[in-house]
Amino acid sequence: MVPSVVQRHTRINLGVPQRMTLRVLESWGCLVIKVFVLIIGIATCLGAGWGYAEPPKKEVQEWRVLLIIKPETALDLKDHSPVKSRMSADNIDAVKKAFVEHTAYWVTKISEGRLLWKPKAVISPTPVTAVTEMGKNSYWLAPSNIPEDIQNFVPAGAYDGVFVYWKAVDEQGKGIDAGFGWSIGPNQNANNCGYSCVHYGETNLWDRDSEPTEIFVHEWLHQLEAFYGSKGVKLPKGGLHVDASYGYTHHPTMYWKPWYRDFIAGEVREPDGSKTGFAMAQEWRIPAEANGALIGLLDFHFVADVSGVGMVRFLITR
Ligand SMILES: [Zn+2]
Repeated sequence: MVPSVVQRHTRINLGVPQRMTLRVLESWGCLVIKVFVLIIGIATCLGAGWGYAEPPKKEVQEWRVLLIIKPETALDLKDHSPVKSRMSADNIDAVKKAFVEHTAYWVTKISEGRLLWKPKAVISPTPVTAVTEMGKNSYWLAPSNIPEDIQNFVPAGAYDGVFVYWKAVDEQGKGIDAGFGWSIGPNQNANNCGYSCVHYGETNLWDRDSEPTEIFVHEWLHQLEAFYGSKGVKLPKGGLHVDASYGYTHHPTMYWKPWYRDFIAGEVREPDGSKTGFAMAQEWRIPAEANGALIGLLDFHFVADVSGVGMVRFLITR
């Protein structure tokens, strides 16, 4: 019997008599089948003996993230005494290291090499002069409060996420309630990047293995959950803050990283046996042209009390 592939080819007459074409193609067909069988045989041997059967390696996704450090604050708010502050060079170095080195280390670790944190840190020459009130005298530094920095440091399409480190208390600890970390997903005011602001922490809090350093992973995951959530990716119900309802607990040295690991890997187990998390997404990167209207997830999770040396108190204010 003539293989179907040859039957199709016999309809293409390249000027050779039909009978001859058929015969030639028949013999080609036999050859093709033999080669095919040979390849299958070799592949089977390789698969059985030399590891061809291993699943394909996971693709590494780069996340281009920028930290804008705002060393100076000069706030003159209505109904509030002025806030003037400046960070020390040591503090700037410590947070830069926490963002560039320590967070890169943890992102690789908790994503098991699947995500690559590609960081850059810059120092803004202009002071913080505006903040956004969220109610009850609490504030955050929104992207709309720093349009010059966005214009100067965040060219369209250059980053997936932008973080800003700032200080809203003076040397005496007086200032405004700025929480610790706040985030939104891709936003037009941040040139369509995800955006987070992280409030000041004392220099000795920014070690690799400290809980405050985990704030960058935490806020980054808020940017991601806002994006993926808006794209219909099935995430744990209630988002990043519902760790306890899925049975996760605060680890003494790894803090919430086991939860983050499963959240990224798409291995959070639902009551019906299904799994949820980012890895369920087809496309990981936030596109540069992402519509700023996608979002709307604001983080009001962490409130830090950095007045005690080495102590940070996280209050959940869902
Ligand atoms: Zn949060």
